Amino acid sequence: MDRLGKLAERHGQTALVIADDTVWELTAETVERSFESAAGTFERVRFSGDCTVEEIDRLTRAAVETDADLAVGIGGGKSLDTAKSVAARRELPVGSVPTIAATDSPTSSISIVYGEDGSVVEAEKHRRHPEFVLVDTAVIAQAPTRWFVSGIGDALATCYEATATWESGGTTVFEDRPAYAGRALAQTCYRLLRDRGKGAVRAVESDSVTENVEAVTEAIVLLSGLGFENGGLAAAHAIHDGLTTLPGAESATHGEKVTIGLLAQLILEGATDEEFADIRAFAVSVGLPTDLSGLGVTDPSDAELEAVGRVATDPSGPIRNEPVDVSREQVADALQVIDTFDPS
Ligand SMILES: [Zn+2]
Repeated sequence: MDRLGKLAERHGQTALVIADDTVWELTAETVERSFESAAGTFERVRFSGDCTVEEIDRLTRAAVETDADLAVGIGGGKSLDTAKSVAARRELPVGSVPTIAATDSPTSSISIVYGEDGSVVEAEKHRRHPEFVLVDTAVIAQAPTRWFVSGIGDALATCYEATATWESGGTTVFEDRPAYAGRALAQTCYRLLRDRGKGAVRAVESDSVTENVEAVTEAIVLLSGLGFENGGLAAAHAIHDGLTTLPGAESATHGEKVTIGLLAQLILEGATDEEFADIRAFAVSVGLPTDLSGLGVTDPSDAELEAVGRVATDPSGPIRNEPVDVSREQVADALQVIDTFDPS
């Protein structure tokens, strides 16, 4: 984080720094110090906490008023997504400074925009990617461990989804064919998580930065981001989208829901007991949920599970990248199976 000022001066003279009050309290001193020796300056604006059209418009006006020629988001996914959208409206470069490693969004050129009621309105695809993604692993390690574990869940699915997209002849979110590079990055992401995930979580639990934390943070923030953008999304994220409608799962994180989506994807793709048990055991070992009760959902009704299946099987969504046909009933069945299945 000490390097932010020097990094920002390469891309603009006046940076509009977007951060909520909690994040700003933790980072202001370091950010201010980092700009003291830099050629550029910054103006911090308060982020409300929600990436809505209204908030993007308000902060876009702030970018005009401050004559900013660079936007920098500091914080979680919503502040970074907001900074990306503000930058896109002003055609400015943007920098991402994630303070939690909870998803792969910091690297991506996509913002998830929400309505006032909390529902997803749009996934805005921007023409440019962030110019830089600055990650201070000391900050990541100090954040609540649940975020880091959630990031592992989001990144764990990347390789499986890239493989499904590849095998089905599917396309990425940009409607391109997947690249060999995307798959290779997704595979490296997966290997780092499996080889170092447990050690990294243990370190983060005591706010420590080890090489495992460096490696797994890179897997979550960078490799998973490049991996999904160039490799494609499939059932895990499609089922995640469905799970956002499930009563009781409101406080589960993105990565927790993706993990359940991944386990269901394995069932849908016909994974063997051994394959399923292997990934499930890894999820347990890092503290990810492996059934619906882990998301906060107890005893869901058939109708609720069908509703999840209906959203998950939207033919324009990532389910299209599965090499097998998936019906809403099959999604509901897969969720029921993982809820009661412990093959170990
Ligand atoms: Zn994700």
